[in-house]
Amino acid sequence: MGGTRAYLTPERCYDLYRLAFRHDVVFSRTARALDVLAHESWHLRGVRNEARTECYALQSGVKLGERLGVSAQTAARMMRAQLIENSLLIGGDSEYRVPPECREGGALDLAPRRMTFP
Ligand SMILES: [Zn+2]
Repeated sequence: MGGTRAYLTPERCYDLYRLAFRHDVVFSRTARALDVLAHESWHLRGVRNEARTECYALQSGVKLGERLGVSAQTAARMMRAQLIENSLLIGGDSEYRVPPECREGGALDLAPRRMTFP
């Protein structure tokens, strides 16, 4: 599984464009757009489970944010905020809710030796 093409809504694309080319950040919107792009990237790599994909996205979203122009600290704060929002998911979206192993030192921690998460 996996692929070479991901689809994002125009709103997410615009938020990413504003970040990358205008250095225009609206914290919650920019955070969400980074999370979504990172999420789709993990699907392209072949990860299918939504909760696992989202856990990885919240972690790689930090580097992605840095690459597109926010500081490491801001990117980390953004992904932590997304993680908190994620914990509030219920009902139809609950398949996206990250599992308990999605934490510092947990089974889904991509960098267990680094003592920050995400
Ligand atoms: Zn997904």
